[in-house]
Amino acid sequence: MGQWDIYPEFEVVRNEARCTRCMGCIAQCANGVHSYDEKRQALLCDDAKCVDCHRCVAMCPTRALKIVKSDCALRENGNWDGDTIKEVFKQAQSGGVLLSSMGNPKRYPVYWDKLLLNASQVTNPSIDPLREPMETRVFLGKKPERPQRGADGKFTCELPPQLELSMPMLFSAMSYGSISYNAHEALARAAEELGIYYNTGEGGLHEDFYAYGENTIVQVASGRFGVHEGYLNAGAAIEIKMGQGAKPGIGGHLPGTKVGADISRTRMIPEGSDAISPAPHHDIYSIEDLRQLVYSLKQATHHKKPVIVKVAAVHNIAAIASGIARSGADIIAIDGFRGGTGAAPTRIRDSVGIPIELALAAVDQRLRDEGIRNEVGLIAGGSIRSSADVAKAIALGADAVYLGTAALLALGCHLCRTCQTGTCNWGIATQRSELVARLDPKEGARRLCNLLTAWNHELMEMLGGMGINSIEALRGNRLMLRGIGLTAGELEILGVAHAGA
Ligand code: SF4
Ligand code: SF4
Ligand code: SF4
Repeated sequence: MGQWDIYPEFEVVRNEARCTRCMGCIAQCANGVHSYDEKRQALLCDDAKCVDCHRCVAMCPTRALKIVKSDCALRENGNWDGDTIKEVFKQAQSGGVLLSSMGNPKRYPVYWDKLLLNASQVTNPSIDPLREPMETRVFLGKKPERPQRGADGKFTCELPPQLELSMPMLFSAMSYGSISYNAHEALARAAEELGIYYNTGEGGLHEDFYAYGENTIVQVASGRFGVHEGYLNAGAAIEIKMGQGAKPGIGGHLPGTKVGADISRTRMIPEGSDAISPAPHHDIYSIEDLRQLVYSLKQATHHKKPVIVKVAAVHNIAAIASGIARSGADIIAIDGFRGGTGAAPTRIRDSVGIPIELALAAVDQRLRDEGIRNEVGLIAGGSIRSSADVAKAIALGADAVYLGTAALLALGCHLCRTCQTGTCNWGIATQRSELVARLDPKEGARRLCNLLTAWNHELMEMLGGMGINSIEALRGNRLMLRGIGLTAGELEILGVAHAGA
């Protein structure tokens, strides 16, 4: 420790009685925490390098390791907590912008936890999903307001292009570059098996994954990396990324060190060059401009693919969504401020944007008030943690939800929040081949399928408990929600009554 060093946040505790000196932990930790000192014939730990990813803990054959949070106390108070003090120290040392990954960890209200679902009692019977059919299929896209008839008076069924999902969940955008090849493959395999979709993010589509095109959403972001006609036509839908919940209003940055041969080919940029996507799309400064891009993408794909516009949840999101619904887009994806990221400036991630629950409720209500709710499908994202969150999102107006962090957890992520370093010990947020190899894509896909299948079962049980038998009947059905511990203002925006009312 020197004068300017901060005491490590975590301590590595080795139980010497259990340790067999197999040296496994040295091999497992890409952060170089563990080492063996030949002279002293001792295993050593550099706690300052530990990010609490739990890889060595999980892989130690004798359970000799644990990581504990350091109890070395800073003089905190109600105004200056430990993290804030440490951040000032770090910036005084580096002079740089603080970078973070994954979602906003600050203790803002989590409205999902302040909303409760209904259940039928006595007057309307609940439904047993084991014995009666339960529809969790969802179609995302524009829907006609009423049945249409042709000139001969017969019903016509010419819907604009739709995305069909077997359950109301999709994997959110994660680019090849921010996550590994194997993580991408696991998501693609799981999406195919489940009958849902994964999303390329802004990194283009690796040639090996064209085979999963029917279950792929291809993204067009401001940097336009990897975008060409073949790419647009390879996916089932195209997503225009206008914003991201973790970093609204700013662009993205994949450092050149992560741009190896494969990523350089996929993104169509030189090997080793930084992939910097600008904050705005340089051809979009209005809804009319957005409309032109939507139209161009539809033209390029012969009007066969739905176009999604993804935006971050920000203050005037309802008005923005209303504009997008009129731009010709088929689906709007709203990403709340707790949504994950591979890397974002800490201040932006923690201070910009609004919670998805409030944004979603405001958008659904606005579109209903304007009579254009059926003009677009709505996807909500930004920290959906369980099937109960999914059910609540649908009751607040979503057709389906994007899952990002939960999907990564299923793949082995331990939320150490250091994706930006590129040394993910679980083979997810890294391009180092020896680390990538730690993630078996088939096993990863199996775990993803397990997670979503389990959530879908739980969803069916919740629907049955409410006495309804389809996702469609829950969509925007706020009578199925009650608030707890919320102010009148919050309840009004959410459009729900307080528990007991
Ligand atoms: S992996 Fe476990 S048993 Fe092996 S050296 Fe490390 S602490 Fe000891
Ligand atoms: S960084 Fe991860 S693998 Fe390394 S010592 Fe800490 S918990 Fe173990
Ligand atoms: S993906 Fe890897 S680096 Fe990122 S939070 Fe999860 S375990 Fe940590």
